[in-house]
Amino acid sequence: MEYMLETKGIVKKYGKRVVLNGINVKVPKGAVYGLIGPNGAGKTTLMRVVSGLSAPSSGSYVINGISSTDKKSSKADTGFSAIIEKPAFYEGVSVYSNMVAQCDIKGVKNYDCIMDLLKLVRLDRETTTKARNLSLGMKQRLGIAMALVGDAELVILDEPMNGLDPEGIIDIRNLILKLNKERGITFIISSHILDELSRVASVYGFIRNGNLVKEIDQQQLHEQGSVYTSISTDNNSLLITILDKKNLKYSIEDNDTVYVYAELSAEEIMPELSSNNIKLKSISTNTESLESIYLNIMKGENA
Ligand code: ATP
Repeated sequence: MEYMLETKGIVKKYGKRVVLNGINVKVPKGAVYGLIGPNGAGKTTLMRVVSGLSAPSSGSYVINGISSTDKKSSKADTGFSAIIEKPAFYEGVSVYSNMVAQCDIKGVKNYDCIMDLLKLVRLDRETTTKARNLSLGMKQRLGIAMALVGDAELVILDEPMNGLDPEGIIDIRNLILKLNKERGITFIISSHILDELSRVASVYGFIRNGNLVKEIDQQQLHEQGSVYTSISTDNNSLLITILDKKNLKYSIEDNDTVYVYAELSAEEIMPELSSNNIKLKSISTNTESLESIYLNIMKGENA
């Protein structure tokens, strides 16, 4: 597999505090890579490091074949763009002038791309609007247009859906999907909104306490026993001994409910429950959502 970004043992310390603890992420070319983790896990720090905004304490990374250790000398900084925290504009100048400024920063001499990009993000009617007067969603879209100046192949977005209304979220989602599909742009996106991330991401990296706990793609997500049966009985401790005998994987969700990581029907389990005098209260088979996988990982069960 070809990778757009590969990090090798990235460590970031602030004083004695280790914020990134040897991170190895692999972002396939053409992926939308969803970086998930709780507040303070290190997502922004990792994005800052691979964007060159912050130097790692140790470790290195390779973007599109160019190693971070060679980058300084090769001037090969084009080809990727990052929006960390929020897009940086000249608030007092127009949308168009912000694009011009971005072209100048990136050394793009021909401004023909500007209107194409503004059309792409549906800001072609706002060319004269001052950046400060744009809605949050429009600002986010302008940020993405600016990130695309210079034919970026990798775009890094830190919480791009943050603070947007449902319509704005749908807009950004569709824009990311369109750019990914039609232009083959690789994205790295962090988000707390798991459901939202699951609609755009093709690969997920789970970060906790500065560690990459798990990296998984859509297919693996599907394959890794994502079906589970939730069972509730009047004697769950006895139920568990039965599950153990059957070699079934399970987790105890609360006092009432046990999750069995298999598709089980009432007919299948009833004979054994009856012979052990266990009363079945409820049983249902569900597909494990990204959210429950996230919760399991964050609880340390799959770590
Ligand atoms: P969130 O989802 O809240 O944005 P995050 O996963 O992006 O969280 P980071 O912003 O990367 O997390 O922060 C990771 C840890 O590093 C936090 O505990 C934070 O306090 C710490 N940290 C970040 N920047 C600095 C800094 N400049 N100096 C000291 N500590 C920092």
